[in-house]
Amino acid sequence: MNTDALPVGTVVENHGALFDVLIDGRVVKCSLRGRLKPARPGKDKRRQVAPIAAGDRVEVALLDDGRGVIERVLPRESDLSRRAAGSEPLQHTLVANVDQAVIVFAVAEPRCDFYMLDRFLVAAVAGGLERIICFNKCDLVPPEQRDAQFGLYAGIGFHVLCTSAHSGEGVEALREAMQDRRSVICGPSGVGKSSLLNAIAPGLRLRIGDVGDVTHKGRHTTSSITLVELPCGGWVADTPGLRQLGFWEAEQEHIAAAFPELQPHLGRCHFSNCSHRDDPGCALSAAVEAGEISVRRVKSYVQIMGGAR
Ligand code: GDP
Ligand code: ZN
Repeated sequence: MNTDALPVGTVVENHGALFDVLIDGRVVKCSLRGRLKPARPGKDKRRQVAPIAAGDRVEVALLDDGRGVIERVLPRESDLSRRAAGSEPLQHTLVANVDQAVIVFAVAEPRCDFYMLDRFLVAAVAGGLERIICFNKCDLVPPEQRDAQFGLYAGIGFHVLCTSAHSGEGVEALREAMQDRRSVICGPSGVGKSSLLNAIAPGLRLRIGDVGDVTHKGRHTTSSITLVELPCGGWVADTPGLRQLGFWEAEQEHIAAAFPELQPHLGRCHFSNCSHRDDPGCALSAAVEAGEISVRRVKSYVQIMGGAR
């Protein structure tokens, strides 16, 4: 068989042994060729739990009955993975080939937990994703108050959007930011992620709630992830497992990248083992005193570094 001519599609859903593959706007039910090798990004040698994840680009042999057989997985550009439980470290890829994380927090109801937001930023960096911070429920807080409380992140240089799924403010900007891109949407529950996705893509069948999940202890139950194709182009993966974003192992360089404004001050403390908690000669404390950086962000940095590898 001439495999050069096989159509290429994107895996949108994984039902165990069967996969939904989007090929030219059509979903084809596919099984897997027997001895298919797992796709590994670059020189990654970690062993995979499963050979195929949502987001994978695959070559499909179409059968006469309308079904297909996945013949080959194209190399991954990126993957969001967690380490599967067990004695041997196995990698469980949740979604492949994602470009960006859309990190949604509400400006109120629920109150924005900035420490958690910082952790999401670190996790997105660790996953190799670009970051968009979306402050939703803008309608609940007057603009002046918004800038005072949430302006920090835009000031640091993050890509920040203020949206309201209710009033429609910022929804067009969010749509543009997600257009033709492959996103994961994440953030705590109740901040309006589903509402925003519905505003961006009205009428979409968001199968939230019927997907499997990763338990808090990191155990893996059935974890089926669905990609939703956006009418404006691109897709978004939305699952409870991704929302928590707790599964990436952050390294110090990832943490540093999520705190760019602290970089000029790091390594300048009097003591090389400075805890940055009011130690004498602490360069971070001095920068806080001088109003150059936020004490809250320094605390967040210290906290996250404390739990890093
Ligand atoms: P999710 O858990 O993050 O998916 O949040 P939902 O989309 O389910 O929204 C949670 C609640 O917040 C619902 O009652 C929504 O109606 C409400 N909500 C969502 N977006 C907004 C918004 O922009 N403004 C206001 N005031 N409420 C919102
Ligand atoms: Zn210090």
